[in-house]
Amino acid sequence: MIVDTDKLAKELEKRWKNIPCPFCEDHNWRIDPKIVTPIEVGNNKRLNLEKIQPLIPVTCGCCGYTAFINALVLGCVREGE
Ligand SMILES: [Zn+2]
Repeated sequence: MIVDTDKLAKELEKRWKNIPCPFCEDHNWRIDPKIVTPIEVGNNKRLNLEKIQPLIPVTCGCCGYTAFINALVLGCVREGE
């Protein structure tokens, strides 16, 4: 999967409505064009890799606070090489 950073930036601009970072109130958001996922810890402390959430990190350029955006909800990914 490849992140369409231009489309994601436009979607966040539309939906977040220029919201600042909740911790430092800066507006310098940086989109990391990579998809990451948390790993679920199931019963017996086993890692469950059957279901993943494709998340795109969006980081405040001032303090480092990072929000994770579900790539599928905003439709900002495409299958890639
Ligand atoms: Zn911040």
